[in-house]
Amino acid sequence: MADPAHLPKNPARSGRHAGRRRKIVLSESALTVTLFLTVVLGLIQNPRLLESGSILAGLLLHLVVLTACVAIPWSGVPIRTALIIPLMDFVALGFIRSGAGESLSGVGLLAAFPVVWLAASRVSTAVAVGASFVGSVSLVWLPLLLTGDDLVLRDFLQPLLLPVMLTGLAVFVSALTRDRRSQQEALRASQAALRASSEAGRKRERLLGTVLDTVDVGVLAVDANGHDILMNARQRAVHAAASPPGNDDPNESQLLVYGSDRESLLPPEERPVRRAVLGEDLTAEQIWLGEGRNQRSMSISSRSMIDEDGAFAGTVISFMDVTDLALALQAKDDFLSNVSHEFRTPLTSILGYLELTMESGESLPAAVQGYMEVARRNALRLEQLVEDLLAINAGTFEVRREQCDVGRILSDAASSVRVKAQRAGVEVVNSSPPGLIAVADPGRLAQAVDNLISNAVKYNRRGGTITLQAVTDGDCLRVEVIDTGIGIDAADLSQVFDRFFRSPSVRTSTVPGVGLGLLITKTIVIEHGGTISVTSEPGVGSTFTIRLPQDGEIAGERRKSGETANA
Ligand code: ADP
Repeated sequence: MADPAHLPKNPARSGRHAGRRRKIVLSESALTVTLFLTVVLGLIQNPRLLESGSILAGLLLHLVVLTACVAIPWSGVPIRTALIIPLMDFVALGFIRSGAGESLSGVGLLAAFPVVWLAASRVSTAVAVGASFVGSVSLVWLPLLLTGDDLVLRDFLQPLLLPVMLTGLAVFVSALTRDRRSQQEALRASQAALRASSEAGRKRERLLGTVLDTVDVGVLAVDANGHDILMNARQRAVHAAASPPGNDDPNESQLLVYGSDRESLLPPEERPVRRAVLGEDLTAEQIWLGEGRNQRSMSISSRSMIDEDGAFAGTVISFMDVTDLALALQAKDDFLSNVSHEFRTPLTSILGYLELTMESGESLPAAVQGYMEVARRNALRLEQLVEDLLAINAGTFEVRREQCDVGRILSDAASSVRVKAQRAGVEVVNSSPPGLIAVADPGRLAQAVDNLISNAVKYNRRGGTITLQAVTDGDCLRVEVIDTGIGIDAADLSQVFDRFFRSPSVRTSTVPGVGLGLLITKTIVIEHGGTISVTSEPGVGSTFTIRLPQDGEIAGERRKSGETANA
């Protein structure tokens, strides 16, 4: 039976309200039909059945209740008011039962209808069971009371089986209803949670889509098998730029992907996307995409996705267009190279004439000779700077390894810097063993060591010291330049070998320099197949360590495998 009492209070829900009356009428009609059939069967057994006033009163009452079910505008009354109907049903059935006596068997069982109605309603189990018990007891006791006989306790106890059964039915239906209702509520709650979470998911998806199409970075996500699962608008443009002419849907190996020279196509296995798809995490790998005027430089980074089981689940790759930056750097290098070339010829001429004049200038006053010496020294410095710039721009320093006396190189370097060091109040101590033979380019090694010692003087303080050490340790020559100078901040340590880097404190000082010395030193060391490193403590000093392999084979292999110098 439907629960006609469980009806919404909100008049706005007119659809549901229209159903309220229908449910109430249907519920009551079920009793009406059963009652009608029962009476028809009773009339077959006893045609004078309807002569009983009680039965007629009961039937009349039921008819009134049914009419009320149809006539009352249920949407306008509190829903619990509808519970009056099953209670009235008990009364009507009580009258019918008292009038029928034994001739209308089973009429008491019809009380199951109002009992179920009450039990299935939204009233509490206690109220439903209580009302069912009272209703069904009055159903069996009313006829007794109406007889007017003298009644004993036994007369009241005897017919109690029916109320007990009906009360049990009320308990059962109430429990069942409550159970079904809590299931429905749980279902509704989980549906609401599902709706909320899918709405939240859609919102996140919209947000992600908007973010991805707003950022000026191409984003590509691929699954573990390398299939695209997401590509933003920017990345589609990047992909199109890398497609060969006439091929709108190229695969990865057909894309025009070039190395740093912008001319050699990268082999498929070296292409960043392929490597990222295979699980490699990339950080700012630079490549060129496309050809001609449309060629773009991309900085590519990627991060792998790992699922809950720790397995590779795909990767997200970002493509940042750094063409403007790459072209600006290229323009800067070209400019430096051109300017350096332009400086070289007049400088050579200036130096030549200065030296000529100084050689034949014994008759010149001493002051003029002093001025010319200063001019020559500065012209030499300028020449050195021009040479450094040209060498750095060329990217390599030619290195010819041979057996040489590293002890001699270090002692020469120490003596040539001594005058400058004395002027700065710094002591130079050469602790390297004399006659230390090793394999290196003597000129280039001297240049590298000179740079380190010159820095150790420049970035020192009065009373400071510089110690030179060298040792051959198995397959390696180790040269150390240790100073007790100003030291280098930890944040700057990783950059000291970068082009044009000068630490902020040095930049504001009067110490001369352009930030190329350490880069040149590092490049020389790399060309030897070696490494250079630095440890430093601000205010205490710095130690630069050069390691050069002493086995020709080792040096060659290291260079090939890219295990080169680093800071
Ligand atoms: P430059 O000396 O011309 O500035 P370098 O490439 O030789 O250029 O050095 C780069 C920077 O590293 C310097 O400007 C300085 O800040 C820091 N540096 C190098 N050597 C030392 C040192 N021995 N002690 C402290 N700082 C140093």
